[in-house]
Amino acid sequence: MESIKDNVVKVAEAEMPIDEQLIIRKHRIEPAVSGDDLSRICVVTGIHGDELEGQFVCYEIARRILREPELLCGIVDIYPAMNPIGIDSIRRGIPAFDLDMNRIFPGNRDGDMNEYMASEILKDCAGADLCLDIHASNIFLTEIPQIRINELHKDVLIPFAKDSNMDLVWVHGNSTVLESTFAYSLNSLNVPTLVIEMGVGMRITREYGNQMTDGIFYLMKKLGIWKGDVGSVRNPVIAYDQKGTDVYYLNAPISGVYIKECEHGSMVEKGQRIGCIIDPLAGRELCPIEAPGDGWLFTTREYPVVEAGSLMGRILKKEVCVR
Ligand SMILES: [Zn+2]
Repeated sequence: MESIKDNVVKVAEAEMPIDEQLIIRKHRIEPAVSGDDLSRICVVTGIHGDELEGQFVCYEIARRILREPELLCGIVDIYPAMNPIGIDSIRRGIPAFDLDMNRIFPGNRDGDMNEYMASEILKDCAGADLCLDIHASNIFLTEIPQIRINELHKDVLIPFAKDSNMDLVWVHGNSTVLESTFAYSLNSLNVPTLVIEMGVGMRITREYGNQMTDGIFYLMKKLGIWKGDVGSVRNPVIAYDQKGTDVYYLNAPISGVYIKECEHGSMVEKGQRIGCIIDPLAGRELCPIEAPGDGWLFTTREYPVVEAGSLMGRILKKEVCVR
């Protein structure tokens, strides 16, 4: 007899205006003999359709479980595409509606199609023991694997975040993490929900995907969902940035083409060159970009064209980089 049940399940569906259907699906893997008291984890990604790092994580979690199904002792729900039309067309928002899906939660059962889908997604995740919402920055910036936490939920979330094998836990002030996000709504329903940011938009960084997957298995073991060997996890830097004073923001002073010179994730010293803005037409350097202080370069710009004000990187101040 099979030791697990492994099914693709419809979470929500709605009729599109003409003929097509909008369907959100999840991959549920659970022990064949299920009880009422099984723990459940939800792994969610694809709220932003141009962020693809989570696609590999969804695949890899399922692959590892199906390789050793007898070690599963709880429920794993994997949602690869919360915004399926966005994922299919690699658009950040919900195409045709010009809408950021992460600004419509908690949704509304009686609202329009997108609000309805949002409310059904929340209903499906409600009651889980832990949820991970995997993001992948945007096409402009690469992020070190990190967890972002709203300070309102920090007491519940930091213990989970420490066990997630990420490099950084960034506790934000309230204003930077909005109330209309999926994670805020689900945390408000008492489902601990971690927001992961890692890698870069429209790409898959396999190394980061494997790091995240290792962390998910570690968390699953703690929750009694997995009984296999999981090893140990990284000890993350925990930064509290309520006032925005722990981080140097590198904004472009002028427009041009940005050439990075410093490796992502490296420690930098005050005055060290991070990169420079060049003028390809004149063939000259317009402006060197230097570190304003000592710290850890945890965000770097991948997209070379910058306008005045564009973010080129973030440096976590050295005195905050204590593990
Ligand atoms: Zn995102």
